[in-house]
Amino acid sequence: MNKNIVVAGLGHGGIVAAALLAEKGFNVTVYEKMSEGTLGHDWTDMFEPKALDFAGLPMPSADKFRYKENMTFSGPSSQKVLTQYITEKDMQIIMERKDLYTYLIDIALEKGVKIVYDCEVLGPIINGDRVVGIKTAKGDITGDLVIDSCGMNSPVRRNLPKSFNIQNEIESDGKIIIYRAFYNKCSDDEISGKFKIILYAGGHPGISWVASHEAYTDVLIGRFKPFDEKEAVEFTEFLRRTNPRLGKEKLRGGSFAEIPVRHNLSVMVADGYAAIGDCAFMPMPLIGNGIANAIMAGKILADTVSENKKESYTAKNLWSYQVGYYKKVGALIAPLQCVKSALLELSVKDVDYLFATEIATSDDMRIIAGLSTPQEAIATIKREIPQKIKSINNNKHLVAVVMDVGAKMCKVLTLSLRMPERWDKEKVAKWAKSYDKAFK
Ligand SMILES: Cc1cc2nc3c(=O)[nH]c(=O)nc-3n(C[C@H](O)[C@H](O)[C@H](O)COP(=O)(O)OP(=O)(O)OC[C@H]3O[C@@H](n4cnc5c(N)ncnc54)[C@H](O)[C@@H]3O)c2cc1C
Repeated sequence: MNKNIVVAGLGHGGIVAAALLAEKGFNVTVYEKMSEGTLGHDWTDMFEPKALDFAGLPMPSADKFRYKENMTFSGPSSQKVLTQYITEKDMQIIMERKDLYTYLIDIALEKGVKIVYDCEVLGPIINGDRVVGIKTAKGDITGDLVIDSCGMNSPVRRNLPKSFNIQNEIESDGKIIIYRAFYNKCSDDEISGKFKIILYAGGHPGISWVASHEAYTDVLIGRFKPFDEKEAVEFTEFLRRTNPRLGKEKLRGGSFAEIPVRHNLSVMVADGYAAIGDCAFMPMPLIGNGIANAIMAGKILADTVSENKKESYTAKNLWSYQVGYYKKVGALIAPLQCVKSALLELSVKDVDYLFATEIATSDDMRIIAGLSTPQEAIATIKREIPQKIKSINNNKHLVAVVMDVGAKMCKVLTLSLRMPERWDKEKVAKWAKSYDKAFK
């Protein structure tokens, strides 16, 4: 008999896993709290289409996306600028969030996924050590496997028993609060760096961007502490001083959202359960891009599930999903979390000083883009950090910070290589504890 897969929430990773499993003959039903046709924020997203290729999905139709140009990064004073380096295979596309949802949902429906809208998921149904279903506002639903794609605050993950060793709550500094709005373009002045990312802009710990497009200017304000609309409006005014194209007329957006920006969940699976996407904290630490990672995770999870289709889904046979995801994505993005934590401890002056001394250069962006294994990353960090600190030799405090970040990055990369290849509850719990601790 075909297995019943219950997907909680229509997150990007969940839809991809659902589509690929339905294609292989599984009975897949997604339970989503929103109404049909209302999913997606009123803004655009950028992500690497190579993730679609990895999942074996076609490109969206050409009129629904465009390629993104390279971003520039600067410190609070915006004086020194680093340019992102993207190889052709890693080029990102920009797409309306609503179009991306339509594209993925259409694929899922075509492959036989059933979607129940207006159905809030309330929590897991547990039987002994196993997740056997979900409680929803429309009643209890049971299945052979629950894929948790309910986002960062999933009520399923948050209500799992402690004995599962899956982190229930996200730390307050593990997420970034985002305000996003599109404004009119009020000048045609040529500007350098059309897609500018500014760290600690205006002295606020966080990351912001101003992206100039043909017809509008896209503003994103991300902070690690809560802020309100009044502060967002004042800050946008501040950004106008150095961004002449940024007009005053708000065209779209203007709302707040949160993204997890920390290392991935150190345990993503349990008997009858797998977490994916923002629920498993998959976005890039610091920057918050999570769509491509969720899509790739969807493919890895679907492969794991279909390889074990004759068995009941246990942590033991779902574990290769986590191992596969860490190998493909998680291990290499985790060091960014060490950089983020260090930045949060620094003063605005220190951050600007680090940019001014060119401790990181555009060339480094190229080196980072070329890394494909934790071993390569460790060797690069060990080679580059002693060179880097030469430029800040007269600032002992910053030398210590940079050395500490380098050591932590190597430690988390080394630990990722030591993740148990096979599930053993005790060994996994021990590994997860030391992995989580390495970021502190
Ligand atoms: C402002 C902003 C800008 C971003 N820009 C980018 C970008 O440019 N590129 C990029 O790669 N990433 C971006 N991200 C991150 C990206 O949105 C996520 O990483 C990605 O969507 C994967 O998240 P998810 O689908 O797992 O979770 P979510 O997007 O949170 O989706 C969860 C789904 O579950 C549903 N749900 C939640 N709770 C329940 C419940 N109780 N019952 C039933 N259903 C429920 C939700 O309605 C939603 O459909 C951005 C995020 C934000 C907030």
